Amino acid sequence: MLTCPDHMLALDSSAMSRYGSPFDDQMLEAVLGSVTDEAVLRLLRRAPLKSLTFRSNPGAPPGTNDGGHVVINTAPRLPPSIGITHEYAQTDVAYYSLVLLHEIAHVVANQLTGTGASEAAHQAFLEVFQKGGGVTRYALNRCGEGRTLSEYFAETFTAAVALPQLRANDPEGFDHMSALLGAVRDAPA
Ligand SMILES: [Zn+2]
Repeated sequence: MLTCPDHMLALDSSAMSRYGSPFDDQMLEAVLGSVTDEAVLRLLRRAPLKSLTFRSNPGAPPGTNDGGHVVINTAPRLPPSIGITHEYAQTDVAYYSLVLLHEIAHVVANQLTGTGASEAAHQAFLEVFQKGGGVTRYALNRCGEGRTLSEYFAETFTAAVALPQLRANDPEGFDHMSALLGAVRDAPA
């Protein structure tokens, strides 16, 4: 049975599973315990993951989200190739933590840019998106398939929470995301 840190809240251990993963408990707890940002925790309380699965699946994407059901691929990390945030990780724990954070961003996105945010904040974010910047290559142009709002959002979110060194690539987007996250942190509990 997986241990589930209190802060993952609605994600109780019955919603977590691990299949054929080389992860030991220490690695798993380090990855789950990496989610400490108060804004992220608050957003997860509003829009919890429906399930979280750790599964080794070589060749599959590092992480996926399907309507709140998140799968983290625990197969060994691949060499950098698509210019996505998790490729900036220095350690394996940081790598899986950044994959998880990127998928969390997809799950909570509507809380920041949709129904949970003010219309003004939503419009401002869309304007930043349309300017064409990006903290990573993936944010700029998802795998050469074109620019998508959801990947721009997830990459900017991940950078603003965990990779401040990427700010220089898209200062306006980074600062806008930081302001949105700051508003979540500052809101009354
Ligand atoms: Zn994504």
